[in-house]
Amino acid sequence: MSVSTIPTPGMPGGPCRGSCNHTKCHTLRAMSEERCVHCGVRFGFGSKITGEPAMHLRCAQTIAARSGAPATHPINNPAAAHPVGDYRGDKR
Ligand SMILES: [Zn+2]
Ligand SMILES: [Zn+2]
Repeated sequence: MSVSTIPTPGMPGGPCRGSCNHTKCHTLRAMSEERCVHCGVRFGFGSKITGEPAMHLRCAQTIAARSGAPATHPINNPAAAHPVGDYRGDKR
């Protein structure tokens, strides 16, 4: 898995602050405006991204953790509701 970080403006390798006409800076700014395919949040500068299509590294790790786990029931399982304990079935 290749991970890349979107450099923050002013950092070494980062785009110029403000607007400019450098192709590289334009590309980096466009990258920071991209949205994660997993969570839909803008990457922003300084984010670690990975994959194709690109997503946050943390989102990729979330997916990897989920897919690597054994198949289990969904967390919101309505069948897991416990019966209430105060039923009155014992007539005297
Ligand atoms: Zn520039
Ligand atoms: Zn994400």
